[in-house]
Amino acid sequence: MTPAERLNRISEDAMCIGCGLCQSVAGPATVRMEIVENGYERPVVQGEGLTHEMVDRILDVCPGTRVDGLPEGEVNDSTQSDLIWGAYQNMVLGHAKDPEVRHRGSTGGVLTALGMYLVDSGEVDFILHARASEQVPTFGERAVSETAAAVLEGAGSRYGPTAPLVDVLEQLDRGRPFAFVGKPCDIAALRNLARLDERVNTLVRYMLTPVCGGFMPPQGMSRFLEKDLGVDPEAVTGFRYRGFGCPGPTRVEMANGDVVEKAYTDFWGTDESMWVLPFRCKVCPDGIGEAADIAASDTWPGGSPDPETEGDDLGTNALVVRTQRGAELVARSVAAGYLQTTDTVDPRYMDSVQPHQRAKKLAVGARHEGLRAEGKTVPRTARLRLDALMAELGEDNRVFQRDGTRERVRIGKASEPAPRRG
Ligand SMILES: Cc1cc2nc3c(=O)[nH]c(=O)nc-3n(C[C@H](O)[C@H](O)[C@H](O)COP(=O)(O)OP(=O)(O)OC[C@H]3O[C@@H](n4cnc5c(N)ncnc54)[C@H](O)[C@@H]3O)c2cc1C
Ligand code: SF4
Ligand code: SF4
Repeated sequence: MTPAERLNRISEDAMCIGCGLCQSVAGPATVRMEIVENGYERPVVQGEGLTHEMVDRILDVCPGTRVDGLPEGEVNDSTQSDLIWGAYQNMVLGHAKDPEVRHRGSTGGVLTALGMYLVDSGEVDFILHARASEQVPTFGERAVSETAAAVLEGAGSRYGPTAPLVDVLEQLDRGRPFAFVGKPCDIAALRNLARLDERVNTLVRYMLTPVCGGFMPPQGMSRFLEKDLGVDPEAVTGFRYRGFGCPGPTRVEMANGDVVEKAYTDFWGTDESMWVLPFRCKVCPDGIGEAADIAASDTWPGGSPDPETEGDDLGTNALVVRTQRGAELVARSVAAGYLQTTDTVDPRYMDSVQPHQRAKKLAVGARHEGLRAEGKTVPRTARLRLDALMAELGEDNRVFQRDGTRERVRIGKASEPAPRRG
């Protein structure tokens, strides 16, 4: 295989989540994230400069090929462990103390409040995270925020393709301390990079993540705009998925000044069975941010907002605090008046507000067996308990999940064309 064929295989096996790290590793003159035929952002090989050594390095760091749990060095005497929720120090409910931050945040503004505290206090020089893309309004793009106001500008979930790591090596080259906010798979990529580049562990002071069930594929977005809203995707100039309430309306802005707002449940549906997701997200071994310092989630009983009361929720996050560093950050942010914590919760509470995460955790080992049986790329994992989780699933369900995945592979659901400019 040529170097390009080896890199393309990740995308062709539908394992690429579009984080952008391979562009940073190979350099944009050699690998560049571009919107490809199927509408996703994928790494497109440029010219003839890609070498096998570069691809070896990419395969070591890519979260499509490797996802690990919390590094062993982050586990200490006060670490607790749960089969579903992994390693944690504590679990608490909370929200941004400032009502404006709470309102603008995706849930209760916790990730934004933590980021604002970190830059205001000078603990870090900037936050590497994501904001709405200026080029493609439904996408996210990486943001470098050096002030609290800039961090607040990036509040809200981006449920479209987003590549926050597209220039992470350049950010490390600056030699300045920063915090990273990204999806659990982005965190996995950064932890992978830390094994090759020791600057990650010295300069990236905190890794924060939303609990993540997956994002909206571009085809699903086109369907929503064209069929559900009757809107020409080309006419869209602004797209907000969430925030300004919990979850807040899905808001579409058009070039002619028209604005359409829909409820979150109109966009996603009222339960998980209605979600349209990239294949990679269906076999994701870690949507709960096992390698992050803190993972923040929603707290709707049953996992979805009640359509009847959707507009009334002020927003409360659950924080799964995984590291000592994360616990100390929460304490300092509370003391400084950026964060308010309310109740302590536990893993069974988390199951009740994240039933889809629990179900996927139990099923994912069997889904990987199905991928393996069909000769597809399977992410290597460590410290994610996939075998123990699969044992908990039971033999009948294991066979059902494994064979279901094999069938999906056979009908082409786990295949994409080699990335070419769209
Ligand atoms: C793709 C996706 C899937 C999700 N799935 C779940 C789920 O299964 N269960 C659940 O409880 N909650 C899910 N959420 C929402 C999540 O709960 C909230 O974002 C989380 O509770 C944090 O809320 P907050 O108010 O603290 O966030 P905010 O204060 O609004 O901060 C969000 C931060 O995340 C960053 N960010 C947003 N989108 C992206 C992105 N795509 N890539 C990188 N960084 C980003 C922003 O820059 C910002 O810094 C998902 C979010 C996303 C983006
Ligand atoms: S998952 Fe990230 S590192 Fe892997 S191929 Fe896709 S963009 Fe590159
Ligand atoms: S479900 Fe997993 S693979 Fe998909 S975006 Fe979330 S963390 Fe990444």
